[in-house]
Amino acid sequence: MGAKIISGTEIAEDIRAELQAEITELKEKYNIVPGLVTILVGDDPASQSYVTAKNNIAHAIGIHSEQITLPADISETDLLAIVEKYNNDPAINGILVQLPLPKGIDENRILNAIDPDKDVDGFHPVNIGRMVLGEQCFLPCTPHGVLELLQRSGVETSGAEVVILGRSNIVGKPMANLMLQKRDGGNATITLCHTRTKDMAEHCKRADIIIAAVGVAKLVTADMVKEGVVIIDVGVNRIGKTASGKAILAGDVDFDSVKEKASVITPVPGGVGPMTITMLMKNTVQSAKMAANLI
Ligand code: NAP
Repeated sequence: MGAKIISGTEIAEDIRAELQAEITELKEKYNIVPGLVTILVGDDPASQSYVTAKNNIAHAIGIHSEQITLPADISETDLLAIVEKYNNDPAINGILVQLPLPKGIDENRILNAIDPDKDVDGFHPVNIGRMVLGEQCFLPCTPHGVLELLQRSGVETSGAEVVILGRSNIVGKPMANLMLQKRDGGNATITLCHTRTKDMAEHCKRADIIIAAVGVAKLVTADMVKEGVVIIDVGVNRIGKTASGKAILAGDVDFDSVKEKASVITPVPGGVGPMTITMLMKNTVQSAKMAANLI
């Protein structure tokens, strides 16, 4: 059949254009400029490039963005003090601490110290609790991006059999929760698979929608899916390097074979990745509006 390939890059560009218009209006009508700070600890090159990409996009759409780089040997106490400083800074609506943090720093302690009203990553237990209850909150960026991809591509989730591969706190678990909620973009019947799942292929075969977030290159193959399935591939796996040293990426789905059976599929790169960063911007704008009592 040959699947329709959903370009996360294009959908993300559309959303950024909408956000840019909203930011311009916030500035003109209310003199509000949403502010984001990204805090990077250490010099991990992958983390550095993620943080730089986030800052560049924030700047490009009119968000005031600050990038803080701290030494890998910073103490937990000093890092907590920096988070607290931004909690109290009215120019900052969103605080992002880039993960992973160096060994010796308790990630949960740092994430829990972020003011839930500035937790634009949506990782704070208060926001996770609100999400589970279906209340207004910052949704975690990757699952939020997947919801937007599905909705903007016209994929019906109501009544669909959705199989999610991976149960991490940042992707699989919130994804499952969001898709079972009683509202547009939800109302699905969810199966969540992980390393102890007995027969993952059997679950995948009956899925109308598969969301793969395991971190294993090309784990999902054509023989595991039914004709017409919708595939959202969250995985990003480095499977080699080009002659010039650039990483070659693959998703968790064997794109070339599965696209022949699927009705809709996302590529890697250019699928979920650009959506994740864009949802961070969306949450930052939402935070600025909440701080000004506009929503
Ligand atoms: P994670 O924390 O490592 O969790 C992986 C999950 O997959 C775990 O629940 C694990 O099961 C399960 N799993 C691993 N191997 C499996 C297998 N062979 N069969 C069944 N389940 C298996 O990973 P994550 O942070 O959720 O990330 C998952 C992937 O998405 C990674 O490739 C990551 O780079 C990518 N990612 C992409 C974005 C984006 O914006 N595009 C954002 C976040 C993550 P157990 O719980 O039993 O160990």
